[in-house]
Amino acid sequence: MKIPHQLIQSLHAAKGFNSNAFEALHNTRETITSVRINPFKTAIEKLSFDNPQQVGWCKNGYYLSERPSFTFDPFFHAGAYYVQEASSMFLWQILQQTVATTNNKKVLDVCAAPGGKSTLLSTYFNNGLVVSNEVIKQRANILTENITKWGLPNVVVTNNDPKQFKQLENYFDVIVVDAPCSGSGLFRKDEEAINEWSENNVMLCNQRQQRIIADVMNCLKQDGILIYSTCSYSIEENETILDWVCNTFNASTIQVELQPQWNITETQSVKHNAYGYRFWPYQVKGEGFFIAAFKKNNGAFEHTKIKTQSFISPSKNEIQIMQSFIQLPSKYSFFKQNENIKAVENIWLNELQTLAKYLFIKKAGVEFGTIKGRDFIPSHELAVSVFSSENISTIELNKEQALQYLRRQEIDLHAEKGWQLVAYCGLPLGWIKVLPNRINNYYPNEWRILKQ
Ligand code: SAM
Repeated sequence: MKIPHQLIQSLHAAKGFNSNAFEALHNTRETITSVRINPFKTAIEKLSFDNPQQVGWCKNGYYLSERPSFTFDPFFHAGAYYVQEASSMFLWQILQQTVATTNNKKVLDVCAAPGGKSTLLSTYFNNGLVVSNEVIKQRANILTENITKWGLPNVVVTNNDPKQFKQLENYFDVIVVDAPCSGSGLFRKDEEAINEWSENNVMLCNQRQQRIIADVMNCLKQDGILIYSTCSYSIEENETILDWVCNTFNASTIQVELQPQWNITETQSVKHNAYGYRFWPYQVKGEGFFIAAFKKNNGAFEHTKIKTQSFISPSKNEIQIMQSFIQLPSKYSFFKQNENIKAVENIWLNELQTLAKYLFIKKAGVEFGTIKGRDFIPSHELAVSVFSSENISTIELNKEQALQYLRRQEIDLHAEKGWQLVAYCGLPLGWIKVLPNRINNYYPNEWRILKQ
C-alpha cells in the first residue's frame, strides 16, 4: 500500500507518530471487525458470534474473531447490532466522562449518515432526544433505514444543511460533529481512499470542518458539550481545528482519563494546549481516529424566541381503531403527519413541533401506521421498534424462512388470518398479512436482500 509521502512528512509533527510502524501496518492489511450491540433488543450471548471480545472503552462494543456475512444474518436486519469501527466507539467513553444522562438531554448529531454515532447516542441518551442530521439526501435515506432498524423512539432524522440549525439558538445540550474529512484513518480498510487524498483536499476539509462547527455552535447551550471527531490523521483537521475553536469561541477542551492498556495517545494543540485523542492503529485495536470534547463557556448571547408548528392529533375514532390492534403506550403522544400516525414520548412533543418549524424532518419518533376506513395498516417502523409486541400476534421464523422474508419472497406458513409480526429468535423483522389464499410480505422493498 503506497501511503502519500506528503502525508507521512506532515505527520512527523503529530504526537505518537512512528513512520516505520505506520507504513508496516498498512502493508499487513489486517482487518478488524467490531460490532456494537443494541441492549434494548438483545444481549451478546444471544447472538451467534464466535468468542466476541469486549472493546475496552465501550460498554456494548465487541471485537469479532472473524467477519461473518452480515447480509445473511437476520439479527443484523432486526437491528440487534450495528457494525461499527472500534476506535469510533470511543464516543461512548467521552460521553460517560463528560455528560450525565440525567435531565433528558437534547443532542444533535450534525453529520450523521450512515448512523454509527447516532445509534450510539440514542442508546446512551435513551431518555433524551437525538436529532440525527445528514445534509446529503441519498445518505439521509440510509441513515433513516439504520435508525429505523435500531428501533429506539427517541430519534428525529433531519435532512438539512448545518446552517439551517442556526435559529435553534442555545437549544442543544450536546452536539457531535463527526466531520467529513480526508479519510486517511481508513486507508488500511479502504485502499481506494488513498487515490482521493491530497494536501489540497486536507485544506478543503479543514475549511469545511470550520464552517460546520461555526454553523452549529450557536445552538449549543452554555455549558453544553461539543464533540468533534474525524477519521483523518492530518494535524490540519485535528489539533489545528481545536485551536481554531478555542480562538473563535468561548470554549475549552475537556481532558478525559485513559486506561494505559487502551494505548490511545493524548495530544495537545500548539496554541491553546487543547486536548485531543489520537488512535494510531499500530497501537490500538481499531482504525485511525481523532476525537475531542469541548465545553462551551459563559458568553453573552441573545435569546430569540423559538417558534413551533402545531401538529394535528389523531381523532378519537382513529385512536380507538389503533387500540383494537395494539395497546398504546401511555407515556407517548400521538400526532399525524400526512396520513401517518406517529408516536413520541410526551415530554418531546413540543420539542418536535419546534424542530418541525425549522427543519426538514424525514423521520420522527415511531410511525405506528395509517387508518383506512375501519382498518389499521401498521407501519414497518412499528414492527422493528422497541415497543412491546406482546399483544401482537407473532410468528417465529427459522433462519431460512427469515432470509426468505428479508428477500421479500413468499413464505409458506400456517397462520391465522390478518396482520402478523414475523420474528427471528424473538426479534421482530416486519409484517405479513395472511389472506385466505396467500400471504403478503410487507418487508420494505427498498431494504430487501438482493445478494444471492
Ligand atoms: N457520523 C457518521 C457515522 O458515525 O456513521 C459518519 C459521518 S461521515 C464521517 C461525515 C458525514 O458528513 C457524511 O455523511 C457526509 O455526507 C456529511 N457531510 C459532507 N459534507 C457536509 C457538509 N458540508 N456539512 C455537513 N455534513 C456534511
